Formats: sequence, C-alpha cells, structure tokens
Amino acid sequence: MIAQTFDGVKNLIIGLGVTFKNLFTTPVTISYPEVKRIMPERYRGRHFLNRDENGLEKCIGCSLCSINCPVGCIHVVSAENDPERPVSPGERYAEIYEINLLRCIYCGYCEEACPVDAVVLREHYELADYDRDTYIATKGDLLVYPEPNKFKVNILGNTTRI
Ligand code: SF4
Ligand code: SF4
Repeated sequence: MIAQTFDGVKNLIIGLGVTFKNLFTTPVTISYPEVKRIMPERYRGRHFLNRDENGLEKCIGCSLCSINCPVGCIHVVSAENDPERPVSPGERYAEIYEINLLRCIYCGYCEEACPVDAVVLREHYELADYDRDTYIATKGDLLVYPEPNKFKVNILGNTTRI
C-alpha cells in the first residue's frame, strides 16, 4: 500500500515536471488556415508542369512519367509539334496530360522519371475539395505554376496571393 502510494506520487511529480517543462517551450501548433505552414522545398505535394525560359511547355509527351507511375494515374497523349508554332522544344508535345490526384500516392516517381524536369511535385498541400471530379488535373490546371509558398492554391491551380 505504501509502495503503491509512493509510486503514484512519484509518477504525479514526473507528469507535472513534463507539464511545467512544456509551459516554457514554443508551441508547435499553428492557427491554420490563417497561418500557413512553410513546407520544406522537397515536400511532395501538388503536381505542376513547368515551362522553359521561352514560355514553351517543357513536357515533350514522352510518357515516361506515366510508364513509371506505380498506380497508373497519369494519362498522356502526345502529338507532333507544328514547326511554325511549337508547343514544346521537342518534336512532340503532350496534347493531353491528366493526373488523377485521388489515385496518386505522391511518391514522386513521375518527377524522377521525367527527362526534362517538366513535371514536379511542389510544397502546395491544400488539396481538399468537395467534388471528386476536380481531382482530375488537366494540363491547363497543371501549367499554372505559382511561386512556392507565396500563393494559396486549390486543387485546380486557382491561386490567391497570401
Ligand atoms: S507522384 Fe507517384 S503516384 Fe503520383 S502521379 Fe507521380 S508517379 Fe504517379
Ligand atoms: S512530364 Fe516529362 S516524363 Fe511526363 S510526358 Fe512530359 S516530358 Fe515525358
């Protein structure tokens, strides 16, 4: 009985010690959504398609991202570039480029497989939506590339500056 009481008091003191220690540490919680967390640069969030310095789409429609995707959620249909009005710097470009963001497991294999750094996963994590259809990100959605952490972006790339 005495030993049990002693153990109880000891554990109480240990617990209170933890409480007092945390009273003087900086809180790890943030007031989301008013305050948005700055994610690490290598965080794998929403996909984007890059453009090159001339404004052309970097994607050359090679489908390597699609082939390497473990869950088959990228759909690419390529087409020949018109030499007079090329869409991309290569011979071909992605006429259709879609990602099913609900099926995606955000592994980053597509980014690794891309030979021209066209598809990237960035630190945008606000992907919640009420409508499942909005999770099919088309090329038009993916080509909207906001500056990291300077925009609030929804699933379709609609952005508002923060
Ligand atoms: S992150 Fe992974 S699962 Fe998602 S599209 Fe890329 S390869 Fe597929
Ligand atoms: S994103 Fe990259 S890997 Fe995928 S089709 Fe375009 S160029 Fe090829």
